Amino acid sequence: MADLLMYGLLLLAVAIGFAAGRWRTRGKSSDYPKDYALNYYKGLSYLFNEQPDGAIDAFIGSLAVNSDTLETHLALGNMLRRRGEVTKAIKIHQNLLARPGLNVRQQHESQLELARDYIKSGLLDRAEALLLELVKLSSAYKMQALEHLIEIYQDENEWDNAIAMASQLDRRYKGLDAGQNLAQMQAHFACEQALQDMEVRNTSKARVHLQEALKFDSGSARASILFARLEFSLGRYREALKHLHRIPSQDAEYLVEVLGILTESYERLGETQALDRYLQQLLEEHPSNSLIITIADRLRWSQNDYVAADFIAEQLKRTPSIRTLNRLVELHLPHSDGKAKENLELLKQLVDQVIAEKPSYCCNKCGFTGNSLHWLCPGCKSWGSVRPIRGVAGE
Ligand SMILES: [Zn+2]
Repeated sequence: MADLLMYGLLLLAVAIGFAAGRWRTRGKSSDYPKDYALNYYKGLSYLFNEQPDGAIDAFIGSLAVNSDTLETHLALGNMLRRRGEVTKAIKIHQNLLARPGLNVRQQHESQLELARDYIKSGLLDRAEALLLELVKLSSAYKMQALEHLIEIYQDENEWDNAIAMASQLDRRYKGLDAGQNLAQMQAHFACEQALQDMEVRNTSKARVHLQEALKFDSGSARASILFARLEFSLGRYREALKHLHRIPSQDAEYLVEVLGILTESYERLGETQALDRYLQQLLEEHPSNSLIITIADRLRWSQNDYVAADFIAEQLKRTPSIRTLNRLVELHLPHSDGKAKENLELLKQLVDQVIAEKPSYCCNKCGFTGNSLHWLCPGCKSWGSVRPIRGVAGE
């Protein structure tokens, strides 16, 4: 990092020298700041004595603000912000905004950079005010300003505002988070609104927001999951099933999140045969370890441990899995004794330990792993990129 700063300051020194040269060749020696040369050489001496902080202050003092030097100021400001020296970055960008001589576009660029400084230092109200102004006034930086506003509203859980900003984003805009589908993001915002409604038990409003989420993105498995949980919690099992049945065509990987309420909804309605048929259909179309365990539990309940164990053993031949193997061991434990029981208990302990150490979810964008499902990845702040892990140790 220190090397990078040195490199940046050297580059800056060259730029200042270049700007000074231009001044002189234009014959504007009268405009030239009197203490320019002194500060410039003082800056260089700090630089070469490896005292970057002093060098920065000297440079800020020495470099006039105009169209020719704007890029140098902005580069220095960005470098400081990246280093975490946000107060100095703010000083540079405020200095830019206070000076006449920049055209409107350059002023807006400086304003955007200042807003980024405020975001970095947690002064979100100030950043918000600057960005809202840019959305109104700047066509060149409107999209970037909207993107930062969405970030702010996301962090503050202000979902109404996040939706309002997202609706102004151009669908063709590929910003910092290129690849994030706008409609999917809006659907997540509406789901967050529904969650807030559910917290205060406003179920009718939650339903409206979930319908909106599905309108934004008909493939939103999250909206169907929330809808199903809402109806299930109210004892409306038929309604819950309607939403659950939509999930396989939306995003079958999330089925594992709802197998519990799916099974219970059918059971509460007394439709266990329909449940078994549906689970078999899911097993053919979207197999997963949780599904195999759910079916085995049904077989155990409706028939006996041996039938359930045979079913699991058959599935294990097709798809090796630590979690289903564990359930097989559990099924054999009550029917064994002596040394065999001891060995099975030891095996189960080991497998339990392996499972406990393995994360259940992974972000397919940044590789973040964890044991709970985050719809907004804590690592890379992408929506819907954290998914259940599949394979021998996962689903
Ligand atoms: Zn991520």
